Amino acid sequence: MGGAVHLDDVLNTCLQSGSLAREEILFLLSRQDSAEIDAIKRCADEVRKVHCGEDVHIRALVEFSNHCRRNCNYCGLRRGNHDLARYRMSVDEIVELAVTLFHKGLMTIVLQSGEDPFYHVDMLSDMVREIKIKTEMAVTMCVGERPHDEFRTLRNAGVDRYLLRHEAANPELYARLHPDSRYDERMGCLAGLRDLGFQVGAGSMVGVPGQTLEHLADDIEFIRQFQPDMVGIGPFIAHPNTPYAGSLNGELDLSLKMVALARIVTRNALIPATTAIGSIQDDGRELALQAGADVVMPNYTPLQYRVHYEIYPNKRCIAEDPVHCHSCMRMRILSVDRTVAEGAGHSRKKADQAGLIPGCRKREGIKSPPLLPRRKSLV
Ligand code: SAH
Ligand code: SF4
Repeated sequence: MGGAVHLDDVLNTCLQSGSLAREEILFLLSRQDSAEIDAIKRCADEVRKVHCGEDVHIRALVEFSNHCRRNCNYCGLRRGNHDLARYRMSVDEIVELAVTLFHKGLMTIVLQSGEDPFYHVDMLSDMVREIKIKTEMAVTMCVGERPHDEFRTLRNAGVDRYLLRHEAANPELYARLHPDSRYDERMGCLAGLRDLGFQVGAGSMVGVPGQTLEHLADDIEFIRQFQPDMVGIGPFIAHPNTPYAGSLNGELDLSLKMVALARIVTRNALIPATTAIGSIQDDGRELALQAGADVVMPNYTPLQYRVHYEIYPNKRCIAEDPVHCHSCMRMRILSVDRTVAEGAGHSRKKADQAGLIPGCRKREGIKSPPLLPRRKSLV
């Protein structure tokens, strides 16, 4: 970029549009001064206000199996971790839990697991059909890569959304993190899910070993170009039974900057304040809600299983009972002056395309947030 870059100029670009140049993304990611980081978070919060409003959406997370056939280097569920007690919930248990959660007022269930072929696609489809008959909840799946035909079967069974983080948009970094997964296949799955009409969630970790700001800029550029309906971003947390045992965890400020940038480049994506962010700092989720996030995902996995879904150690909310979770989440949302959303909180991007606007304003009617006055040069 020629000449000195001014933070206020870049932030004004952010307020006006999400089409940031790579140099601008790198410039924002490399800010270290706390006043500058605050300004980036405030900017994302303005964008969130205008494009998403004050509502925070609550998703009920159910981690139904911790078996996994993959060996991702960062994850405690990797098949090489022989010290983990493995569990599977039965379909009846899952459906029963879904019905209970619906009666508590939850409108989205997120069904997450390791990549576990035990759950045949027909089994998952029957389960989703039953949940759809017995509840009015939106169903999100997060069960890893599957063949396209299986994605289609799941979509036909009524699955509304699919979370499949891209993990690393940089192919070399992706290969280093994943000894037995292929970058092209991951990206192919994301494109396939979109083609099938799912609301698609992508995302990545911050601070994985070997990751640079350039890699993070690749992630933001990928998110800007792919425009996922949902974006999950959280810090990497080192697990002792993985090749990354003893590595440094991802940093809070950098994670928050990434959440802010995801908001800025997507405008209206649904962005969770992740459990991982809440796990590295007590009020991490509240800080994420103030840096662009608009979703929380309280954990409703039955307690006897929850401790074993250890993708990383010292996960938040490992022992809280569900009644407590519900009120705790509401309290956290209200504590940052936000409102609790009613309804399923479907993708605003899909709503734009379909001309439907459940709980969100039409994009062309949205004005840019007010711009910042030009201040002193920061570099
Ligand atoms: N098996 C599925 C979903 C379960 S893992 C899948 O891989 O898509 C859900 C997410 O947890 C992963 O996408 C990854 O980004 C995150 N994760 C795994 N290990 C982690 C760690 N050590 N620290 C932080 N996040 C982690
Ligand atoms: Fe399995 Fe997902 Fe963990 Fe990889 S990230 S080891 S696919 S659970």
